[in-house]
Amino acid sequence: MQPQNLKEKIEKLLSPEAKKIIYECSKIARIKDFRIFLVGGVVRDLLLERNILDIDITVHGDAIEFCKLLQEETDCRIIQTQNDLKTAKVKFANNIEIDFASTRKEEYPKKGHLPVVTQTGCMLSHDVKRRDFTINSIAVALNPDSFGLIIDYTGGLEDLKNKTLRILHEKSFIDDPSRIIRGLKFSTRLGFELDEKTKQLQENFLKNPNRDISWFRIKSELQQTFSLNSPDVLDKCIEQKIYKIFSDTTNCINGQEVFNIIQKHHSEIKNLWLIYLGVLLTNKETIEFFNFEKNEKRILFDALNMVEQGSNSNDFFEIYKFFEGKSIESILIFYLVSKNKNAILFLDKLRKYHVETTGDDLISMGFLPGAQYGEIFDSILKERFAGNIHNKREETDFIKTLKNS
Ligand code: ATP
Ligand code: MG
Repeated sequence: MQPQNLKEKIEKLLSPEAKKIIYECSKIARIKDFRIFLVGGVVRDLLLERNILDIDITVHGDAIEFCKLLQEETDCRIIQTQNDLKTAKVKFANNIEIDFASTRKEEYPKKGHLPVVTQTGCMLSHDVKRRDFTINSIAVALNPDSFGLIIDYTGGLEDLKNKTLRILHEKSFIDDPSRIIRGLKFSTRLGFELDEKTKQLQENFLKNPNRDISWFRIKSELQQTFSLNSPDVLDKCIEQKIYKIFSDTTNCINGQEVFNIIQKHHSEIKNLWLIYLGVLLTNKETIEFFNFEKNEKRILFDALNMVEQGSNSNDFFEIYKFFEGKSIESILIFYLVSKNKNAILFLDKLRKYHVETTGDDLISMGFLPGAQYGEIFDSILKERFAGNIHNKREETDFIKTLKNS
């Protein structure tokens, strides 16, 4: 039996603070004659009894107007509004933030780019049609007269029961290809499968993907999806050729292998999602599509340059120089793509070597600052790799021999 009412689950699964806010919103909606709903991820996760990550409230009408009334009547503050979309972000006690959206209709005049809002304040039945999957299109009424009532215009409840991801119309992936990545995210996170028709439409899109699209959305979804740190995500991304949205790679890299090496270096890695993505980005042009931040771009370009150059040396010093100054993410991408064991040699052994002598030491030994400092440090490092120097005293003795030569 599918639940018809979510009141019990709201009571059971939301924090006391979140419940208090929802009941306050409910009361104001009744007094001020608005109809408000939970829609999207929060409903899906309540039904699945999963952790609730964030709460979105949809207002039939103008969400900004509703939030202004809420602000007048309760202890909360509007912190952000977007007038064209008629959305508002509100901060409540305990720093809880809730996004309020007006019901809206969207169209995609430029396929793959951000939609144009053609109407706000429309019927809820129209609002849910702009969404990605049926399981994300279930609404729950919050007004006191129908609190908890489930409103399912798209068959989301049935799909939730059958663990199925189904898009809402044939052009869905053409309108917004980031939904393909969202599908990958939800299939992995929830253990759901694409329904047959959805799978077919995904395949059709990926045969001839349009790259004139909103890269902002693609990047954001890839970041969320690869941050799951799941081997399955990469395997499915390659198996289903989802990477074709953003790359022409022929790399076929095993998700478990990526996962294992990430685990080994977990404490050092800041951007693990970039490692999963980086092994699929084998071309500078495709990297340029994304609006990567400077440090992200650096990681990916360093990895790509290293793959292009290769590291064929057996000499410890040369290997050290090849990887010196590169981020752990770049080195791991290089290793995963090239399978070059020098990367492991560097990470496990060579990078632990270092020169103890400092620039100040050289000054006090009478060397004038300049380019020769680098040469001296390199010479010391070579001696360390050769096993001729083990400590700072031996470095000093060695430097003296340089001075005298
Ligand atoms: P999560 O648990 O990852 O936050 P979510 O389903 O809540 O998942 P959000 O990105 O927070 O996802 O978006 C909230 C809702 O907005 C979704 O449930 C879906 O209904 C709708 N939505 C989000 N992105 C899209 C999209 N690209 N196309 C259509 N609808 C979308
Ligand atoms: Mg969400």
